[in-house]
Amino acid sequence: EKLYHGQTEYLQAIEELIEYSEIEPYLEEVLVSENLLERLLLPDRVICFNVAWVDDQGEVQVNQGWRVQHSNLIGPYKGGVRFHPNVNESVLKFLALEQTFKNALTGLPIGGAKGGSNFDPKGKTRREVMRFCQAFMDELSRYIGPNTDIPAGDINVGTREIGYMFGRYRRLQNQFSGAMTGKSIEFGGSQVRVESTGYGVIYFVEKLLEHQQKSLDSMKIIISGSGNVALHTAKKAIEKGAVVLTLSNSKGYCYRNAGFTQEMVDELISNESRPKLDRLAEKFNAKWFDNDTPWEVKADIAIPCATQNELGAEDAKHLIDNDIQFVLEGANMPCTAKAVELFEGSKVVFAPAKAVNSGGVVASTLEMGQNAIFYPESFDLVSDKLKNTMGDIHDSCISHNESSYLRGANSATFSRLIIAMAEQGV
Ligand code: NDP
Repeated sequence: EKLYHGQTEYLQAIEELIEYSEIEPYLEEVLVSENLLERLLLPDRVICFNVAWVDDQGEVQVNQGWRVQHSNLIGPYKGGVRFHPNVNESVLKFLALEQTFKNALTGLPIGGAKGGSNFDPKGKTRREVMRFCQAFMDELSRYIGPNTDIPAGDINVGTREIGYMFGRYRRLQNQFSGAMTGKSIEFGGSQVRVESTGYGVIYFVEKLLEHQQKSLDSMKIIISGSGNVALHTAKKAIEKGAVVLTLSNSKGYCYRNAGFTQEMVDELISNESRPKLDRLAEKFNAKWFDNDTPWEVKADIAIPCATQNELGAEDAKHLIDNDIQFVLEGANMPCTAKAVELFEGSKVVFAPAKAVNSGGVVASTLEMGQNAIFYPESFDLVSDKLKNTMGDIHDSCISHNESSYLRGANSATFSRLIIAMAEQGV
C-alpha cells in the first residue's frame, strides 16, 4: 500500500479481487509457493509519454499519455484507450488489471492492458481531435502491434478516434494490420463491435434472469450514462420488452415515466455530440434532473454504465430500500467498495463488470481473428458468437459460486491465470 499511496482506484480493484474470491486449496498452495499474487496483480509495465499537438489557434498543447500493459500471459495485451481529464496512472492501472481478469473470464486467448490520456475532447474541433490522436499514436505505435498489444476504444474514444489513430499507425508502419479494434467496417472493423458491449450486457442479463426463471419482459430498468455502453444496453433492453426509465450524463439524469422508445435511443446514438441528452429531455416528454443521479428511481434492475465509482453507499442504500432486485455493472467498477459490500450483504443479485460488460472485448477478439485471416464475418454470425460467449461467461461464474456472481467471476479468473502463470515458470 505504501508503494502505491494515492493510487486509490488501483488499490480498490486489488482489494475487491482479493476480498471476493475463493481459490481451491491446491491452487492456493501454488499461489503462495510461486509468489503468484504479486506477480498477477502488478502490471508488466507502465509506459508514460508526452503528447504535444497544435490547436486551431496555432498554440502548442501538451498532454500526458499512458499505456499500461498488465499481462500477456494468456494472449496479447488488449484493452481500450480513454481520453478524459480525470485519467491518471491509478485509473489506468485499475482498468488494465480489471481488463486482464475480464479477458481471462471470456475463455478467449487475450491478455489485458489499458491506455489513454488526460486530454479533454469536450469543446475541441474535429481537426483538433484528429491532431491529438495522431500525436498520441506517434508515441503509442512503438509499443503496439497485432500480436503484441491491440488497443480499442473507451470513454470518449469511438470509431472516429480509432480511425484517426489507426490511419496514423498504418502510415507509420507502412503496413495494414489488425493492431487496433473498433475500426470502421470499411477498413477492417467487425460487425456488431459498436453495439457489442451494451448488447452483451443484455445477453448476460437475459441468461441471469433465465437462471432465475424470470424474463426481461416489462422489467423496469434504470441506466446511467448515455454513451456507447448505456445506449446500446438501453436499445437491446427495449427490444426485449423491458422499460428503460432513465439515462444520464455528467450533468444530471433524464427520467421518462413510460420508458424511452427505440426511436429516442436511436436518435441519441446517431447524435455525435452526446451531451445533448439534457437538451432532448423536453422533446422526449421526459423530466430532466440537474446534477443528480438516477439511483432513487424505483425499478427492478439497475445498470450503471457511465464511469468508475459513480454509485456510492448512499445510492446503494436507496436501491436496496426501494427493493431493487438486480444490479449489474455496465461500466468498469461503477460501484464503490462500500456499495459492493452492501449489495453482497443484501438479497440483491449483484453482477460485476468483468462478467457483465465483456461483450466489447469478445467482439474485438472476433475482429482480430477476421483481420488475421482477411475475411469479414456477417452481423448474425458475430451476434450469435457474442450471445453464446456471454452465456458461457454467466455459466462460468455460477459454476464457481452459485450464490455470488462477484465471487464466481473472480474465482474463475484467478484459477485460469494461476495455472497459466505457474505452467509458464518464473
Ligand atoms: P462514452 O464516452 O461513450 O460515454 C460515457 C458516458 O458516461 C457519457 O454519457 C458521459 O457523460 C458519462 N460520464 C462520464 N463521466 C461521468 C461522470 N463523472 N459522472 C456521470 N456521468 C459520466 O463511454 P463508454 O460508454 O464507452 O464507456 C462507459 C463505461 O463502460 C466506462 O467505464 C468504460 O470503461 C466501460 N466500458 C466500455 C466499453 C466499450 O466497448 N465502449 C467496453 C467495456 C467497458 P458526458 O457525455 O456528460 O461526459
